[in-house]
Amino acid sequence: MQQPTQPDRQPTIPAAVGVHWCAWHEAYSNTASPVRDTSGAVLHACYSCRQAYDLVPVAERS
Ligand SMILES: [Zn+2]
Repeated sequence: MQQPTQPDRQPTIPAAVGVHWCAWHEAYSNTASPVRDTSGAVLHACYSCRQAYDLVPVAERS
């Protein structure tokens, strides 16, 4: 699924949902997803950093 260029504005969803620390640019981002770094540790990376560093999000497990 492609990320839209402009995120949909959903006033009913709290702004804090999905905010994680991006370990690559060292700031909080609401587009951060868990990815594995070169040592195999799971860290969060925002959408821009995933694009810049070619990071693949960790597959969700149930
Ligand atoms: Zn980032």
